[in-house]
Amino acid sequence: MYKGYKKIFLTLSGINSGSNYINKGLSDWYDTEDKNMNNDDQRFEDMSLDSKTLDALNEIDFEKPTDVQKESIAPAVEGNDMIVQARTGSGKTHSFLIPIFEKMNGDDGVEAIVLTPTRELAQQVEKEAGKIGEHHDIETLAIYGGASIDYQINHLPRTSFVAGTPGRVMDLMRRGELKLDDIDFFVLDEADRMLEMGFLEDIKWIMSRTPGEKQIMLYSATMPKEIVKLANQYMEEPVELKLSEDEISAKGVEQYYISVGRKNKLSVLSSLLDNEPGKYLIFCNTRKYTRILSDRLRNHGYKAHSMHGDMGQSARTKTMNKFKSSEIDILVSTDVASRGIDVDNITHVVNYDIPKYEKDYVHRIGRTGRLGKEGKAVTLVSRDEMEFLDRIEDFVESELDLHDIEEGGRVEHEVDYEHHSDLFGMVNFRFSIDDDSPSRWDIEKKLENHGIKHDEAEVNNLQENGGEIKIVKSKAEKIPKMDYFDDVELIEREARRE
Ligand code: AMP
Repeated sequence: MYKGYKKIFLTLSGINSGSNYINKGLSDWYDTEDKNMNNDDQRFEDMSLDSKTLDALNEIDFEKPTDVQKESIAPAVEGNDMIVQARTGSGKTHSFLIPIFEKMNGDDGVEAIVLTPTRELAQQVEKEAGKIGEHHDIETLAIYGGASIDYQINHLPRTSFVAGTPGRVMDLMRRGELKLDDIDFFVLDEADRMLEMGFLEDIKWIMSRTPGEKQIMLYSATMPKEIVKLANQYMEEPVELKLSEDEISAKGVEQYYISVGRKNKLSVLSSLLDNEPGKYLIFCNTRKYTRILSDRLRNHGYKAHSMHGDMGQSARTKTMNKFKSSEIDILVSTDVASRGIDVDNITHVVNYDIPKYEKDYVHRIGRTGRLGKEGKAVTLVSRDEMEFLDRIEDFVESELDLHDIEEGGRVEHEVDYEHHSDLFGMVNFRFSIDDDSPSRWDIEKKLENHGIKHDEAEVNNLQENGGEIKIVKSKAEKIPKMDYFDDVELIEREARRE
């Protein structure tokens, strides 16, 4: 088995990839953006990889390494512990798979384990690993709940590479079927996700049953304090890589938001779907709403499906495969169900509900614009969701553009007084009237005749032939119906909080 890798303490350049990297304190990220890389034309063939690995890469049509692969393969092959900030879609999976297969030898027993937050990601990592493993004559296996444990138990004796979710991994370890006491490689994929999902104790439990000497590689789209703490606890002088902000917050993704109340979100979504046909991944914050929304979309003739944690594993896999093969073009999902999914050519990510956690925003939009392709991320924001937009903008360090509501979709737009009401629940109208000097008293009388009590409305800014009326939102619909006024116009509220 591979043993005795060396740690690197100095700035290195030119190892295989011709790029630079450095071991630094955890507080001091090495930002690849600052570097003079000049290695855009680098190919896998130039990276001194085993011919079996090159054959595998050739077979899957990978010619050039992505940025994260350029930066991390060489130090990982050297044997360094790695802490890499990279998002799904950056090519991060192969940046740990390639070094692992370069050094595994297929002896008895499991040599490498990749822990993932979700079943889908475990399946995906194993699938990619299998394609390289085939050329090295190394068996791979995915281990996750919801699938036959007997199958997993039967295959384990021949397996050197395992990708799995913490729960099933622990289950098989407790049964004595999975032994990690001789592993060389321990990968935490989407580490931030795992911590958010409460897997920290499980990770520690598994880690404590592995040998002291092993190479740890941690991948995470975001680097909250807990991750840094985890790394400090278990890693030895890790090489740290942080891709440029562009890479992390989805280069090539056009991001904007539309200010729209809940009442009209479906209508805005239908305009998008009708005006810009494509492959849509739509996010809702709750399982229940993913179902409601996909039902509503179907009622309007869209071929939409939902994916959420209440579904059984085989139904989830089936839906995902249909989405991958473009049998379904509209998938409505929760954050959990979509984690780590690897689907090419998603043209639009729509945040139907704005994510409550800014990190989720980064994960969601990372589903489009993969590997330099273009994509759009559209966030539908109601007034009461504005505070989350502010937080997201702080987090991604840029302001999202505001786009107008597009109309013309098959779901009609309705007037949304709720969305245009102020903090006190009042809606403002501008009216014109055929009267040089309209009387407040007359107008209030007319309002009363229409069932609007005098403490429910306020007449303001009276002037020649017009003025304004502020009215409680529950009675707002009465105003445009009053023949007394020549013309009535709703004063729309600014999208941003004043
Ligand atoms: P990942 O970020 O690992 O989920 O990878 C995103 C997608 O990019 C996957 O579909 C990979 O198969 C693909 N990919 C990764 N590396 C390369 C590469 N060097 N060339 C072409 N495609 C790649």
